[in-house]
Amino acid sequence: MNRDIRFVIIGAGMAGILAGIRLLDAGYANFVIYEKATSLGGTWRENTYPGLTCDVPAHAYTYSFEPNPDWTSEMASGPEIRDYFERTARKYGVYDHIAFDEDVIACRYDDAQWQIETARGTRDTADMVIAATGILHHPVYPDIDGLDTFAGARFHSARWDHSIPLDGQRIGVIGTGSTGVQIVAALASRAGKLIHFQRSAQWIFPGTNEPYTEEQKAAFRSDPALLKHMQNDPAYVDVAWAWSEAVTDANSAALAETEAYALANLENSVTDPALREALRPDHRAGCKRLVRSPDYYQAIQHPNAQLVTDAIVRVEPEGVRTADGVLHELDVLVLATGFNAHQFMRPMNVTGRGGIALNDVWEKRPTAYLSISVPEFPNFYMLNGPTSPVGNFSLIDVVERQWTYIEHFIALIAEGPARAISATPDALAAYERDRIAAARGTIWASGCNNWYLDSEGVPATWPWSYRRFADEMAAPKMDAYEVA
Ligand code: NAP
Repeated sequence: MNRDIRFVIIGAGMAGILAGIRLLDAGYANFVIYEKATSLGGTWRENTYPGLTCDVPAHAYTYSFEPNPDWTSEMASGPEIRDYFERTARKYGVYDHIAFDEDVIACRYDDAQWQIETARGTRDTADMVIAATGILHHPVYPDIDGLDTFAGARFHSARWDHSIPLDGQRIGVIGTGSTGVQIVAALASRAGKLIHFQRSAQWIFPGTNEPYTEEQKAAFRSDPALLKHMQNDPAYVDVAWAWSEAVTDANSAALAETEAYALANLENSVTDPALREALRPDHRAGCKRLVRSPDYYQAIQHPNAQLVTDAIVRVEPEGVRTADGVLHELDVLVLATGFNAHQFMRPMNVTGRGGIALNDVWEKRPTAYLSISVPEFPNFYMLNGPTSPVGNFSLIDVVERQWTYIEHFIALIAEGPARAISATPDALAAYERDRIAAARGTIWASGCNNWYLDSEGVPATWPWSYRRFADEMAAPKMDAYEVA
């Protein structure tokens, strides 16, 4: 006989919606999804910048059970993806379980249950908490002198101010990650002048983003096998899995091939030799997350566009002053300067068994056994948690596998005598020892600055192949867990 378990899910992004769908599918309806904002979508709600596109193929970036025949192009735009999550949450009945504008500030384990508190004062009690709070959602603002003195419009890429006109304006973009590159590609032809401030050149992978024709979409609609094939297209999946293996060995032949391919893209796409040199990265391809763009090199060669590689000295009311003494006058300054990927759900105050604070456990670095569970935090599980795989592949697939793993705990608690399940300290210690050793040999540790690196310079992501991750997620090894 199943025990009626009460779940609290934190975050109504891609992962929280998935958790809700899978709970309902398994017959568990006693749950709420607390969402700090007033709409769902996570990263696809927070990022609305011009050019926002998912560089994972649209058909691969879907829930496995909810293919979408109507994607308008090979790579979906941000608004289209957000709509997909909204539609899917409604279709599967999850929407009604979301409590919006409810920012969870505390979770406290007490007497075998979790006590949850939100900023608005809502209190809840749960048997299990699922933290689906995302990775890349705490904006990093650069520490540049005078940033606040800028007289024009200034905002982070994840806080886009759509009231600000862009056409014909003098726009500066700081940052050359996937975000900065997409913004520059979208705005170069619209701006009166667009300046891309580059601290580090990036390896740019070429690619296409062709629209799907009406005939193609009709075929996807009428042929489920074709649609399934598109979701699991080996042209993407096999390459992504092979790539996951390549990056774990900085000396792999596959990495060298990738670098050669990206280098050829640079050599063949940029005609001016000085600009080509300025765009040539000084780090290994893959050390930073590879940027995939069909149009950045064209955009940066647009007559309105300028690449500035001199270091930024300060921001002044009129614009950005660089080390060569030049003042680059601007109307709009965009900070595409990335995210703090090590915060996770914090500053939320999470307290486990015996009053132990997650903040203290994570003082050195955030971690969790297999990215899911922390000792002394029973029945508190994370989706896309610390050391979860993240890179150039679909995070939806990652989260579906993690949920399958967590489902084993749910079944044990619902059906059996188990009440509380968390990783043992020994399991976590062994995992961390092996993970850190493996992480040091990955391409992310090959000497560049990137957001994977923790405060000690260790890449805080899954350092083994995706195959190994898939195998681990198939079922928990229960000797790594303390079951009470
Ligand atoms: P990011 O990759 O962390 O890039 C931040 C950029 O800002 C870097 O170029 C960095 O330079 C620069 N920067 C930071 N502080 C600076 C300063 N004080 N002066 C000059 N430059 C500064 O951030 P992101 O581009 O937002 O991307 C983050 C992640 O989001 C991506 O890696 C990806 O995982 C995800 N994303 C995915 C997609 C997609 O299509 N799937 C699209 C966008 C983002 P340095 O390199 O020199 O540190």
